[in-house]
Amino acid sequence: QAKKSGKKQWIYFQPEMEDAKKRLSLLSQKLSFAIKNKELSLHYQPIVDVSTPQHKMVSLEALLRWNNPELGFISPEEAIKVAEQTGLIYEIENWVLQQAIHDLVRFKQHFHEDLTMAVNLSALHIINQKTVQPILNMLAEKSLQPTDLIIELTESVLLTGLHKQENSIQPLIDSDIKLHIDDFGTGYSSLAYLHQLPASTVKVDKAFLNYIEANTTTLEYIQKLISTLSMRALIEGIETKQQAETLKGIGYTLQQGYYHGKPKPIEYYL
Ligand code: C2E
Ligand code: MG
Ligand code: MG
Ligand code: MG
Repeated sequence: QAKKSGKKQWIYFQPEMEDAKKRLSLLSQKLSFAIKNKELSLHYQPIVDVSTPQHKMVSLEALLRWNNPELGFISPEEAIKVAEQTGLIYEIENWVLQQAIHDLVRFKQHFHEDLTMAVNLSALHIINQKTVQPILNMLAEKSLQPTDLIIELTESVLLTGLHKQENSIQPLIDSDIKLHIDDFGTGYSSLAYLHQLPASTVKVDKAFLNYIEANTTTLEYIQKLISTLSMRALIEGIETKQQAETLKGIGYTLQQGYYHGKPKPIEYYL
């Protein structure tokens, strides 16, 4: 804020920028106490295999929720952005990992042993955390295997990892933790590098569902491409039975979306 001789003259900042800065500092201040004050929780959304008669739930995806007594619910996107900008990201995502792994034990007991847990991790978390050992330790403490955990990364993170001299995601690739490419199709490049990405599954972004009525061919090509590269396609954002059936018909057996189940707290399931 710059004032000159009584006349208001905003020089450097637009009011919106000032607002954004204020919000960032407010949120970062609140977020730094969020774990201690138990304001964070996880919702779990099923990933189902529609090629099975009962639409077997194969995984659950952990999604962060932050409810602050003064500010109300803050979206995970905003919370993660704040966490990244303030360095709180490791603490927050370690909490997410710890909680999700703890809950996976209970989910496995309640549903079935081969259920897996998918956790979203930020680019910063992966690139700066030099080792996956803390994550492997968390799993071992609960007598779980690395293959019980899925880490969802966006394609840009995986590409950055590939093209760096010192490949920061190599330890993760070398572990048996599974990698899923999240939001496929929303980032840059995609197709040219898809075959190089060290992932077992590609989550095709819900944005592609906009094409579904007019033209399923695009979605069909994407599914074939992913299969050709020996990866599995998972389509997210399915909201209707019709979408689920059309997509099953073109080979998308792994599905996720409100139609199959909305993100819910663990108590909803058990
Ligand atoms: P994402 O990983 O792509 O998760 C999918 C988002 O789409 C979730 O939003 C989910 O609630 C929503 N969704 C699921 N099914 C449907 C559907 O059928 N229709 C529609 N319209 N939406 C659906 P949410 O929970 O708000 O999370 C948003 C994003 O925040 C996530 O996108 C993920 O990128 C990020 N996020 C959430 N938790 C974490 C976390 O612990 N760490 C990191 N780094 N990111 C997280
Ligand atoms: Mg995800
Ligand atoms: Mg996604
Ligand atoms: Mg997303």
